[in-house]
Amino acid sequence: MPHRVTLIPGDGIGPELSTATRRVLEATGVEFDWDVREAGADVMAKHGGNPLPDSVIESIAHTGVAIKGPITTPVGTGFRSVNVALRKALDLFGQVRPCKSYTGVRSRYSDVDLVIVRENTEDLYAGIEFEEGTENCAVLRDTIQKLSGAVIREDAGISIKPISIEGTRRVVQFALDYARREGRRKVTVVHKANIMKHTDGLWLRVAREVAEGYTDIEFEDRIVDNMCMQLVQKPELYDVMVCPNLYGDIVSDLAAGLVGGLGVAPGANYGRAAALFEPTHGSAPKYAGLNKANPTAMMLSGVLMLRHLDERDAADRMEAAIAAVIAEGKNVTYDLKPRPDDPSAVGTSQVADAIIARMAASR
Ligand code: NAD
Repeated sequence: MPHRVTLIPGDGIGPELSTATRRVLEATGVEFDWDVREAGADVMAKHGGNPLPDSVIESIAHTGVAIKGPITTPVGTGFRSVNVALRKALDLFGQVRPCKSYTGVRSRYSDVDLVIVRENTEDLYAGIEFEEGTENCAVLRDTIQKLSGAVIREDAGISIKPISIEGTRRVVQFALDYARREGRRKVTVVHKANIMKHTDGLWLRVAREVAEGYTDIEFEDRIVDNMCMQLVQKPELYDVMVCPNLYGDIVSDLAAGLVGGLGVAPGANYGRAAALFEPTHGSAPKYAGLNKANPTAMMLSGVLMLRHLDERDAADRMEAAIAAVIAEGKNVTYDLKPRPDDPSAVGTSQVADAIIARMAASR
């Protein structure tokens, strides 16, 4: 039976990365039945101004698995992020961002292998904000001052940080299960519980309780500022990290920087009923349609999808072929060359050709 998968090409460089990734996924020999769905600014006019048509969410709810190219979020005006809206609509509470060194990708380290699990629905990222100078902000400020005795300046804006017991429990459980399934040795829970006792303190307490049920996985905690310093100084000490939403956002970009940047950083978002795989970089509009962008991050997201579909052999072969093409350094995009204007850089589709040829040769 082919795997039924929703494919969202995205916009900007998304469509060309999606085509290249789809070709490589199909070349593994695994069969797919793609349900291609459009989302983003380009389809708004067709769907009454909605950049995320209901049919996209319905498709993913039905197939349970989706792979997606990046989608532009206009700054200032226009719609809120389609990417964030999709995660919310499908309750994709656990984001996974592996950051792994590949020979041939220039970076300061050669042997990093980290996985950041980020809570995706709560925290300061929940979008509960009150604008400075508004009536609601003034009411909230007065209430907080009455309840806590704290003084908040009149010209302050206010953001709210909800962290719940159940929200923490499910993502920490997910991180520990992920570690167990992928044969990892340790999970580090990241927090600032010393300062934010009722949010990060709750997070740490619940995480510790959950970890008691996983005696086969080493478990420890780190305060987020110390975590950042340690990752830069000695990344080899860490394995899987589980973070509240905002720290996860920052720590995962830091970790991507350790392995050569966002061009090689895949991502996945998991919920109880669906999983969505996507590169962590954006739509790079200036390269749209030029057959120039690096498809590695989206292809590695495809590798994560194959593992999720329990196609582990195909996932290993695809990852090995991607790694071999990067290590050879010949058929790679401009960003993986020693200089970005290197005339020997190839295009997105040629990278896919080289990976497909590599997989065929190793059969
Ligand atoms: P970006 O990741 O698109 O670009 C940052 C830099 O990296 C640029 O120089 C870009 O050219 C380069 N780059 C990115 N991906 C590349 C690739 N695959 N190959 C080669 N070079 C690559 O970030 P941005 O410019 O901040 O965002 C552009 C748009 O993408 C924004 O609208 C943003 O909201 C959106 N975005 C979407 C997602 C998503 O769909 N999940 C994630 C992040 C940003």
